[in-house]
Amino acid sequence: MNDVNFEKAVRQHLEMDDFFTGGFSLKNPAASTEKTDTDRPARDIETELEKIAAEVRLCRKCDLGPLRTNAVPGEGCPVARIVFVGEGPGADEDAQGRPFVGRAGQLLDKIITASGLKRSDVYICNVLKCRPPENRDPRPDEIISCLPYLQRQIELINPDIIVALGAHAARALLNTNKAIGQLRGQFHEYYTGLGSPPIKLMATYHPAYLLRNYSPDNRRRVWEDMKKVLAELDLPVPQGPSR
Ligand code: URA
Repeated sequence: MNDVNFEKAVRQHLEMDDFFTGGFSLKNPAASTEKTDTDRPARDIETELEKIAAEVRLCRKCDLGPLRTNAVPGEGCPVARIVFVGEGPGADEDAQGRPFVGRAGQLLDKIITASGLKRSDVYICNVLKCRPPENRDPRPDEIISCLPYLQRQIELINPDIIVALGAHAARALLNTNKAIGQLRGQFHEYYTGLGSPPIKLMATYHPAYLLRNYSPDNRRRVWEDMKKVLAELDLPVPQGPSR
């Protein structure tokens, strides 16, 4: 990394700390981050999620299977009220078998913390469970092969809200080709295959996009999207960040 890029990375890191962990106050500290009306114990759901993860680790439904170091099925609270869905694992995730553990993951952690939540309160997963080479965009055939795993995860967890991180996740879940700029900032409806009422879906910018385009406006947009999610869940809405 040259000096200019290094300085940019340090500046972003400091700004990120300031922006997403800056002073905020909680409005409603009693609200729960876990679903309380679920008719299945968390342990049963966890067991079913682990069965999906075991299938994913053996999967060879597309060309990405043989290329992976580790599959990245997803992780988090089995009765989470919020499920974050990204695009697909990067190099760090492929190495560790865990979602969002690289730079984009660090920013996602900060967004979660700024929202007054912990990573263990939510569930985090991706549309693709294996890393596309050189982090290229997911191909349609890969999405078609992999999507049933995500659909089953969502049906099991049955969250109150899905947060789709970036265009690929939003488009795959909403079956649309619209741009993320058109999709973000408003609630959409995600229909499961169970015939149950739709789950609310908020699309927002992918943390990796935010890192590449770290403008005050983009940060504010992601924060506005998260505030809508928290308000919809009747969770405490932190006051900041203000810049
Ligand atoms: N980007 C994603 O979309 N998912 C990850 O798990 C990491 C980076």
